Amino acid sequence: MTAIRKALVIGGGVAGPAAAMALQKAGIESVVYEAYPNPADDVGVFLTVATNGIDALRTIGSDEGVVAAGFPTPKITLRNSGGKNLGGTNTGAALPDGTTSQTVRRSDLYRIIQDEAISRGIQIERGKRLVDAKETADGVRAVFADGTEATGDVLIGADGIDSTVRNLIDPSAPPPKYTGLINLGGYTSGVPVDTESCSYSMMFGKRAFFGYAVLPSREVWWYASLPRPVEPKKGELEAIDGLEWQRRLVGFFQHDTGPAVQLIKATRDPEALRATPTRSVPNLRTWHSNRMVIIGDAAHAPTPTSGQGASLSIEDGVVLAKCLRDLADPRQAFGTFEKLRRPRVEAIIKVANSINNNKAPGPIGSAIRDAFTPIIMKLTANSSFMMRQYDYHIDWEEAVRA
Ligand SMILES: Cc1cc2nc3c(=O)[nH]c(=O)nc-3n(C[C@H](O)[C@H](O)[C@H](O)COP(=O)(O)OP(=O)(O)OC[C@H]3O[C@@H](n4cnc5c(N)ncnc54)[C@H](O)[C@@H]3O)c2cc1C
Repeated sequence: MTAIRKALVIGGGVAGPAAAMALQKAGIESVVYEAYPNPADDVGVFLTVATNGIDALRTIGSDEGVVAAGFPTPKITLRNSGGKNLGGTNTGAALPDGTTSQTVRRSDLYRIIQDEAISRGIQIERGKRLVDAKETADGVRAVFADGTEATGDVLIGADGIDSTVRNLIDPSAPPPKYTGLINLGGYTSGVPVDTESCSYSMMFGKRAFFGYAVLPSREVWWYASLPRPVEPKKGELEAIDGLEWQRRLVGFFQHDTGPAVQLIKATRDPEALRATPTRSVPNLRTWHSNRMVIIGDAAHAPTPTSGQGASLSIEDGVVLAKCLRDLADPRQAFGTFEKLRRPRVEAIIKVANSINNNKAPGPIGSAIRDAFTPIIMKLTANSSFMMRQYDYHIDWEEAVRA
């Protein structure tokens, strides 16, 4: 039985509010501290919450809003630049009530998950950027950029890929690694595509990777991963305006078969197009100290290719709450949490990284990739590894043992 009464949760993205709701279910009070004063903007455009993420939200009774805001996307088809079908896969079997993986705007996901936490009486303090934290004999003291402080029994770093808590736990932790790709996406209506509603179509183009999902209304949400070997300097991508991105994207996909160019040209609000570098967090030496732990992207950011970052972050929050509920000593709870989670997240990151390497391999690499992908897809799509990603279920009632 836990001795932990109060947790300080740093970060009000996906992992933070999910963890706070799970902690509440476990009888532990928490306050969420979010650096930004206003709700999240639309950076990253949209993402998929896979069935395992929906299932984890369901464990804490907060899946309904996300399902209502998104649309089902249970299937992915892969093509080459000439339009040839390279194979397909499912994003997991449907949950018992028929719910499948959902694609949702990133800003909607943030808003829904935060509102749900607030509606349960969880305090989310905005404009609180953590700058330091000190462990004491029986707790932890957090220091914020505005000079205020807060104390609790434990501190949970859900502060994303550029985590401050990660460096407080281990000052030698490696920084996030740039993967050689930049990402951007947009929304288009009125362009007919030969893809069924509620599914993804993805293409290894001659020069870059393109993917889109089709809504029941036939609106299309698309994204592109562009090769860029050298990591962009701070501010470099932001300095390029949306119309210039639109022009460059057309150049990237003009020699490919498929609707990419039409979708890009007809993008609603092209001025809003913005690119972000794709980064991941390498395997860290440790995720915790005596009183502090990191979860979500702070501990193990996969690249967007995995389609699992948000789902793994939600799972983390639920599993951590169980560990803190059942194990009296926080260090033991954190150690057990890390042991339970590491093999799963690191396996998913490894597979996503190998797919990233295939997104921009050059002409010879592309030919090899296109020749072998159908065989690999046959062997791996819907394989037991793929299904284990999506079928993961957290049994809330089952006790955690150290
Ligand atoms: C382009 C793109 C596409 C993606 N596609 C998918 C997808 O299809 N499926 C999927 O599952 N995932 C996807 N992801 C990944 C997913 O968005 C992340 O894995 C997920 O948001 C991680 O949640 P988190 O709560 O750990 O971190 P975040 O969502 O980044 O939240 C961290 C929060 O902490 C706050 N914060 C940071 N520092 C501090 C501080 N010092 N003090 C206080 N607060 C702080 C931040 O402001 C932020 O609100 C994608 C990501 C990108 C960039």
